[in-house]
Amino acid sequence: MRKYIIGIDLGGTNIKSSIFNLEFQKIHERSALTEAAKGPFHVLNRIVDIIQEMLSSEGIQPASILCMGMGIPGLLDPEQGLSIFSPNFSDWENIHVVNYMKNHFEFPVYIDNDVRVNLYGEWQFGAGTDYKNLILITLGTGLGSGIVNNGKVLYGTTSSAGELGHMNMYREGRPCRCGSSGCLGRYVSAIGIVKTFTDKLEEGRSSMILEWVGEDCTTITARMISEAYDLGDSLAIEVMHETGKILGFGLSNVINMFNPEVIIVGGGMSAAGDRLLNTVRETVEKHALKLSSRACKIVQAKLGGQAGMIGAAAYAKNKISL
Ligand SMILES: [Zn+2]
Repeated sequence: MRKYIIGIDLGGTNIKSSIFNLEFQKIHERSALTEAAKGPFHVLNRIVDIIQEMLSSEGIQPASILCMGMGIPGLLDPEQGLSIFSPNFSDWENIHVVNYMKNHFEFPVYIDNDVRVNLYGEWQFGAGTDYKNLILITLGTGLGSGIVNNGKVLYGTTSSAGELGHMNMYREGRPCRCGSSGCLGRYVSAIGIVKTFTDKLEEGRSSMILEWVGEDCTTITARMISEAYDLGDSLAIEVMHETGKILGFGLSNVINMFNPEVIIVGGGMSAAGDRLLNTVRETVEKHALKLSSRACKIVQAKLGGQAGMIGAAAYAKNKISL
């Protein structure tokens, strides 16, 4: 019997699901709204429905599924199959995701953090293939990251290793929902760069973006800052460079600590590309240890929104072959 693997990327907005064959070619893909506000069991039920729909539309029996992997945002215990807390989901605390799936399916199910499944994806199929020491950072609404050291994904004592977004950059900086302040992700993320930009507008600076939004600063996006940068807007250029510099200092610490061969930058805001990354590279060159920084490339992710699904599938396959 032909065997297949399911990969699920559970996000605050969308549930993205794919069926892969054992060569990781995609057989079927589906995306549906998460409807996170309706609570955890509504979301889990939707996932079960989606899987059943995908299988029946392809004529695949559940017995042909070798395993399933799921990437879930927030804190979790992969060994227990327990999602401890997820910030983007309402009432999402101590949810036994794997047990829930066991009530519906016989194939083994594995969960891991959403950024870590993206890391598995980029490592095995994207910008990180052939490397043994790599770091993925994702720039979305926040800054997430995952680390591979000597060919092993780092988990740490409570599966929380690699939370580079909470690296302290300023002693008395912007407050963070982790309870601390001045965390890297508060500055280098879609929300962070917009905040830097609007703070400067409040100080009386001007920008062409003000005309685009009809003076309504609440509708400014990170993408607009990239567009204004391309049009030579001096405030957009300044803010992009300032953000790149903060990320460069953060990554200098990371490079000194882990000595990676490559740092992969993914997530929606990575679309800023070299506008952001050139300053990051210059800052790293100046401030990280020379031997380490010369050995490390900083590149954009390759798989985009596909990394989570294929990474979750690869993670699950890895688990069953251990
Ligand atoms: Zn924090």
